[in-house]
Amino acid sequence: MTRTGGCRCGAVRYTLDAEPFAVRLCWCRDCQYWTTGNAAVNLLVPRTAVRVEGGLDGWDSVADSGHHMRRSFCPRCGTPIFSEARENTERMVIRVGTLDDATGIVPTTVIWTDSAPAWATIDPALQAFPRQP
Ligand SMILES: [Zn+2]
Ligand SMILES: [Zn+2]
Repeated sequence: MTRTGGCRCGAVRYTLDAEPFAVRLCWCRDCQYWTTGNAAVNLLVPRTAVRVEGGLDGWDSVADSGHHMRRSFCPRCGTPIFSEARENTERMVIRVGTLDDATGIVPTTVIWTDSAPAWATIDPALQAFPRQP
């Protein structure tokens, strides 16, 4: 199934031509910045299945997992769209909120629950990991 998505303003558009490996909620401290304080909803997908139109800006950092991450966002509206680890050349993350239609995308895993705030409700139906699995 092909899915499409993009940033809020429309300057960046992408196509995904594969089923995701996983759908994960992430409570890592970094994701809380991009999501204004909540868990990120991340689609793990094959890098080769993603085609991007429009220019992205990016920011490089070392995550709590030790991975060298690049987070990509629209330089105009600031929507976070992708993240990639230098250590993982096969997979990348798409932020689920950027999909045009996220029907059928259901999280199965929650990671970095150790960094979640005290008020966070962790769904017991999800496979939970205190840190990076
Ligand atoms: Zn934009
Ligand atoms: Zn995260």
